[in-house]
Amino acid sequence: MKRRYFLKTIGTGGLAVGITPAWSPRHAASPLNPHSGTSGAKKEPEQASPETILLKDYRPRSLYKIPTTEVPRAKFPIIDMHSHAYAKTPAEIAEWVRNMDEVGIEKTIVLTDATGQDFDDIRRKYAAYRDRFELWCGFDYKGYDQPGFGPQAIQALEKCHQAGARGVGELHDKGKGLVSSTVHALGMHPDDTRMDSLFARCGQLGMPVNIHVADPIWMYEAMDNKNDGLMNAFHWRLDNQPEIVGHSGMIDILERTVKKHSGTTFIACHLANLDYDLKRLGQILERQLNLYADISARYAETAPIPRFASQFYAKYADRLLYGTDMGFDKSMYRVTFRILETFDEHFYETDMFSYHWSLNGFGLPDEILEKLYHTNAEKILSSRGTRALP
Ligand SMILES: [Zn+2]
Repeated sequence: MKRRYFLKTIGTGGLAVGITPAWSPRHAASPLNPHSGTSGAKKEPEQASPETILLKDYRPRSLYKIPTTEVPRAKFPIIDMHSHAYAKTPAEIAEWVRNMDEVGIEKTIVLTDATGQDFDDIRRKYAAYRDRFELWCGFDYKGYDQPGFGPQAIQALEKCHQAGARGVGELHDKGKGLVSSTVHALGMHPDDTRMDSLFARCGQLGMPVNIHVADPIWMYEAMDNKNDGLMNAFHWRLDNQPEIVGHSGMIDILERTVKKHSGTTFIACHLANLDYDLKRLGQILERQLNLYADISARYAETAPIPRFASQFYAKYADRLLYGTDMGFDKSMYRVTFRILETFDEHFYETDMFSYHWSLNGFGLPDEILEKLYHTNAEKILSSRGTRALP
């Protein structure tokens, strides 16, 4: 689902359980929290019988008397490699910049996924803060099912590039084919030969490509009482779509694409949705040197396994990029810092992530944090050259 649509959905309180990437903005009334809704909403009975409490209503509080850490500001300056055009007005954009200043975000990459006029409109809105926001564009898949697809899409890409797009994303393929806000290119996956000239042009133009393939694994599993991610999975279920390319098949498509276009830099977002199998992601990173992974919107998915996750961060510290994908509230940024920087244990952020499980910090050492927050992103961004923006 497109982020814009998702925000609209959550804004109207129409969301029942899950979301992906798994989070919900704090300012939105969460349907999971009966006390945060609008006045007049039905109140839950104060004392539901323990035998009838539903998992979706379960809001445990940690009972451990252990240290808790607040991280108001990131330890090192950050380049946020995964965000979207959440702020719509000049006032909201100014608020976003103030929040970035306060928590330590130096620059934010806004993945617009837009082309043509849509891209120009967004770019204009953010133009007052050119040093703080970088805008990336999308692909125009119009005519993908017609002979001769390619040259026109490349033209659209070049136009965006001339208008200031410095990268491409977030491309989406959750199994049906590449999807943009305007075109569903059904059956056309990133490794399709129709996509070859576009990805090659990205490499020539020095435009990195942020790409989303598949979704968290539990969305593919049966929606039953054994599904570990059930509370976040049901709304986004994929288990009832047998015709789509499955999770593992999408990861293979990602790898084939990255391998085929070795002159193009790819960023698999959300840890390539391999948060449940970081070993496989590591193997792909070892094989494909033009691939990076952003960690956006997969905090709650990795915080239950802090030791394994921090070993992964240590081993692949040169290939991972900080990202958020979760709005621009200060509290949101601070939760990500708490998970990455501290050794805090067993804390809940249920209203932000919707999972019923508790989270743990990774306590990443400084040299890894610096790479994750800044150095790796800087390397990607500066390798594109220093062409002045129009
Ligand atoms: Zn995103």
